Amino acid sequence: MKIDILGAGPAGLYFAALMKRDDPTREITLYERGPRNATWGFGVVFSDRALEFLRADDEDIYQYLTPHMETWNNLTIVHGSENSETRIPITGNGFAAIGRLELLTLLYAWVEKLGVRIEFDTEITALDQLKGSDLIVAANGAFSWVRQENEDKFGSTYDWRPNKFIWYGTSKPFDSLSLTFRDTAHGVFCAHHYRYSPDMSTFLVEVEDETWKRAGFETMSPEDTIRYCEKVFARDLDGRPIISNNSYWRNFPAIWNERWSFDNVVLMGDALRTAHFSIGSGTRLAMEDSIALYKAFKETGNVAAALARYQELRTPPMKKIWDAANVSLRWYEHMGELIKLDPYEFAYSYMTRTGRVSHAEVKRRDPLLAAEYERRHPELALTV
Ligand SMILES: Cc1cc2nc3c(=O)[nH]c(=O)nc-3n(C[C@H](O)[C@H](O)[C@H](O)COP(=O)(O)OP(=O)(O)OC[C@H]3O[C@@H](n4cnc5c(N)ncnc54)[C@H](O)[C@@H]3O)c2cc1C
Repeated sequence: MKIDILGAGPAGLYFAALMKRDDPTREITLYERGPRNATWGFGVVFSDRALEFLRADDEDIYQYLTPHMETWNNLTIVHGSENSETRIPITGNGFAAIGRLELLTLLYAWVEKLGVRIEFDTEITALDQLKGSDLIVAANGAFSWVRQENEDKFGSTYDWRPNKFIWYGTSKPFDSLSLTFRDTAHGVFCAHHYRYSPDMSTFLVEVEDETWKRAGFETMSPEDTIRYCEKVFARDLDGRPIISNNSYWRNFPAIWNERWSFDNVVLMGDALRTAHFSIGSGTRLAMEDSIALYKAFKETGNVAAALARYQELRTPPMKKIWDAANVSLRWYEHMGELIKLDPYEFAYSYMTRTGRVSHAEVKRRDPLLAAEYERRHPELALTV
């Protein structure tokens, strides 16, 4: 069987590994337009639960990746202005993070050891570049041209969200996964920040569209944009610089597809659907897509049946997380209003924003936060 995969991101790499490990006679090639030693972005975060899902399917990959991850048990919400703040640590939230390049480099080594070929610096721009493939996997990310050129076949939809975000890093190693909200004269700035290696952290800044306009980012140079964000988050950065990696302001597209394949072409990972970074699940979802397609092949043994089974098997669990991500992203679209809540109400609202964390669950994870909330809402204490 000949499998060609566009894109050596987490989805394509992990699918290649699973299929090759299962049957070494499969001829599998990954085509990656980027070089081996560079990628976009900084670190990515996994929740404990996300890692447990991965572990349940593949103990080997779990054992291989997790020693390279930074881990911690708390989440910190900072509710503040430029000059003052209330810090609320929330216990019972386990996370692990790893640099995107480190994750990819580990996966390159894993698949190459199994005998998969990766063609770096090779951009595939038309399907007929791939001759004689039994299966073509479009794992080429959120802006996949395979999807864009076949939107009618896939039934693609795009929901471009209004908030702006920019993915930076910093050399300050933060102690916990933190969400820092700073209310400024132009509106609320949120930084999603966490350490992903001993000396580096992701520092992703998100603002509402109106804040972005009022701050003048539309016409601001990349250097001035960094200086502006460094000033807003001066108390958090302790003089450490914000670092760019081709970072620019973007809007998030929530992408969905009604049909996941046609002929022998199938979508996977961000090409198939995007999940907002605020629930830290995009990489996990991409890897779970790989597991589902691999399992569909194991079950059915032929391409047409496997592609149908893949969508059938994968839709229910994936849709649940996708829906939660879409609720989560909307919470950030109301930061300007939400910041007016007192810090504990604000933290509680954050914790329960997707509707998947009940009051009982908040109580289990962090009894102190639940108690603070109950003090303000005594009626709730009686119900749990
Ligand atoms: C700002 C931001 C923060 C995020 N934070 C997190 C997080 O904390 N945790 C988390 O789990 N997820 C996070 N994500 C999501 C995560 O990065 C993606 O969900 C994940 O990378 C998807 O994997 P993928 O393999 O589908 O696609 P990608 O990782 O996008 O990989 C696609 C690959 O295809 C290559 N490619 C594209 N076109 C071609 C072509 N024509 N020919 C050859 N190669 C091509 C690209 O170079 C790329 O390497 C974040 C995303 C963003 C934007």
